[in-house]
Amino acid sequence: TNFINGTAALTWITSFSERFDSTQAYLTELDRLAGDGDFGVNIASALERTRAGLPPATEATFTTVFQAASRGFMATGGTSGPLFGMWFRDIAKGTKNDAAAVTDIAQGIAAGLSTIQKLGGARVGDNTMIDALEPASAALTVAAERGSTPGEALLEAALAARAGAESTANLIAARGRATYVGELARGVLDPGAVTIALFFEAGADTVGA
Ligand code: ADP
Ligand code: MG
Ligand code: MG
Repeated sequence: TNFINGTAALTWITSFSERFDSTQAYLTELDRLAGDGDFGVNIASALERTRAGLPPATEATFTTVFQAASRGFMATGGTSGPLFGMWFRDIAKGTKNDAAAVTDIAQGIAAGLSTIQKLGGARVGDNTMIDALEPASAALTVAAERGSTPGEALLEAALAARAGAESTANLIAARGRATYVGELARGVLDPGAVTIALFFEAGADTVGA
């Protein structure tokens, strides 16, 4: 199929939540080594609010599902929750229809990337979620221009996001709390960047090629 409808969006968010659950302890450990150790709790609470606010399958559209995610993340303590919340809001706004095409998703994700960068000022190489999000967004834009299916496009985005997240092992932070530890965090992946990879991997797996 060429569109992500409400049911597919629900599966995507649910799978993201499950992947996060099985990775939460590891992500908290990363934030403990390079930040203040609250990342796992912050995102777990955001996902709990998101699940509670999801529309029922019979009423779900792409937009209402991502609006629920936005509301769930926006009200979260810490830096990353509100940034994810603003990102999901722009994704929700990417389509005016009940289901999103690849071009809609690519546009929404690129708009959300701009919003995060406007608010947080981070660029690629600063050791933040941007290191995974920017290459994923670029891959989606190329896939949309090529006429890829959502499954193909999200798989390419997932591979780009994972590579971007892995790249943060060798980076010294220029934004966020990880700047406080500097060189000590060398070898530690950025938890926000890993979470971006989980999000796209969940999408690639559940939306299908
Ligand atoms: P806090 O550092 O306030 O405790 P969290 O632990 O919730 O926040 O989130 C940390 C994550 O936030 C980092 O892994 C990083 O990806 C992301 N982050 C921090 N600062 C920025 C920024 N300026 N721009 C984008 N992402 C950022
Ligand atoms: Mg933290
Ligand atoms: Mg904190």
